[in-house]
Amino acid sequence: REEYVRKPEWLKIKLNTNKNYTGLKKMMREKRLHTVCEEAKCPNIHECWAVRKTATFMILGRICTRACRFCAVQTGKPTELDWQEPERVAESVEIMGLRHVVVTAVARDDLEDGGAAVFAETIRAIRRRNPGCTVEVLPSDMKGDYESLHTLMDAKPDIFNHNIETVRRLTPRVRAKATYDRSLELLKRVKEIAPDTPTKSSIMVGLGETKEEILEAMDDLLAHDVDILTIGQYLQPTRKHLKVERYYRPEEFAELSRIAREKGFKHCQAGPLVRSSYHADEQVSEAAKR
Ligand code: SF4
Ligand code: SF4
Repeated sequence: REEYVRKPEWLKIKLNTNKNYTGLKKMMREKRLHTVCEEAKCPNIHECWAVRKTATFMILGRICTRACRFCAVQTGKPTELDWQEPERVAESVEIMGLRHVVVTAVARDDLEDGGAAVFAETIRAIRRRNPGCTVEVLPSDMKGDYESLHTLMDAKPDIFNHNIETVRRLTPRVRAKATYDRSLELLKRVKEIAPDTPTKSSIMVGLGETKEEILEAMDDLLAHDVDILTIGQYLQPTRKHLKVERYYRPEEFAELSRIAREKGFKHCQAGPLVRSSYHADEQVSEAAKR
């Protein structure tokens, strides 16, 4: 057990994250924009921003109405709803020359539509300025409100991503307010609204789940017509967050990925550093091919 809980070698590699993005980071501050890439200190930032030309924007502010026990985003009462934000995101996408953008947000349970209208406007603004750039959305469950879902889907995202994050048994401990079934139902509704839009979900491993439970989560996602799955290692952001129960070995991720494909996912990305938005550009083209 000791062997698993100590941070393993494959997570200690010094990644090439020190490239000079000062200019872009400064632009984000000037435009009052937030990226998950920066906030989560994502180790893939160089690969994503410079090589793959992709980034993950976090809209609707930086204060979340929920407090999931794995997530480092600040919890509180959001104060603003900024209708200029969509245009600023679109401008940044243009300046960065991005080819694939992931738009995510804090959970805005204080808003009636959960922020769906701003999501939709962000998709449209990105498209207006960046024809050819694909847009993936990663919204909250919008409180299970399907009218809000329709508002978002009217803007026709290229990929709809919503994470169940963990297996059924651990959901109440890991996620705040969200439920396993509500998230599955949301994903299914997306397919009903837009059968051709690839849907995607993600789970973090290392929170104490068993392999059987992971396989059950895969079956549940497939039963709700989810096309793409990503699986990554959970890393504890601060001492206040849930502890890592276990570090999975790279070969275990490879096996999970193989099983996922065998079970019927069109694409599965699994690995220690895989994040929900990792290699998302590749997933959009692969999903479209089938
Ligand atoms: Fe940003 Fe996601 Fe890439 Fe990390 S994996 S740098 S969060 S786009
Ligand atoms: Fe973090 Fe999303 Fe949970 Fe808010 S709802 S705490 S942003 S994971």
